[in-house]
Amino acid sequence: CGIIGCVGRGTETTDVLVDGLSTLEYRGYDSAGVALADGDIEVTKRSGTIDDLREAVAAEGPAGEFGIGHTRWSTHGPPTDENAHPHTDCTGDVAVVHNGIIENYQELRDELGADHEFKSETDTEVVPHLIEEALEAGADPETAVREAVSRLEGSFAVAVVIAGTESVFAARHDSPLVLGLGSDGEGPTDAYYLASDVPAFRAYTDRVVYLEDGEFARLSPDGWTVTTIDGEPVEKTVDVVEWDP
Ligand code: GLU
Repeated sequence: CGIIGCVGRGTETTDVLVDGLSTLEYRGYDSAGVALADGDIEVTKRSGTIDDLREAVAAEGPAGEFGIGHTRWSTHGPPTDENAHPHTDCTGDVAVVHNGIIENYQELRDELGADHEFKSETDTEVVPHLIEEALEAGADPETAVREAVSRLEGSFAVAVVIAGTESVFAARHDSPLVLGLGSDGEGPTDAYYLASDVPAFRAYTDRVVYLEDGEFARLSPDGWTVTTIDGEPVEKTVDVVEWDP
């Protein structure tokens, strides 16, 4: 299973996501999907192979500047199209991918109540609904993601896009996540990546920042930030990977 995210690649974003997922195939998976965000969010997802996803993407043509993608290794709910990630909230403006297991998902789902209609059998689907609740309560997008993630117990690497928000958000606990810094100051825009493992974006950059448990990242065209999930500052170092793509 694996996660990828990408900011700043313009119309190439969809291809960057799908190609990145194919480099994460070795981690094992039974379903795959992408969400592309700018003014709205378009989700394409399927049970099956990355080639099945590639075909679906060619047919549906999801497009957007801010993207997340996922390969799923099912733990809660069988490998169906509905259970494939990304998962969305009721408004369709929040999309989330997740690797791991949310141990307290039933409790969170009960708390969210009947106002929230669920479309999958996954533990993951509580996350976009928690973000939706926080946004409706007046939180800004970054705070809403932090608040939702801070409620989760278990293991997670999550990545989130929100319609109209020029960012990809991510956080981890007991599941790997690494950032890729594509900006060398020479391109037309700065590009940033995140993934479960470096091969997913190694074709574009060798500069990486490993996230630790309990850390939260925001990637936007202006740059990247890492803090704790609660918003405390953390010192990060940029590593340069030695191996070729
Ligand atoms: N627990 C989630 C699910 O079953 C994520 C599984 C994964 O790590 O891919 O959908």
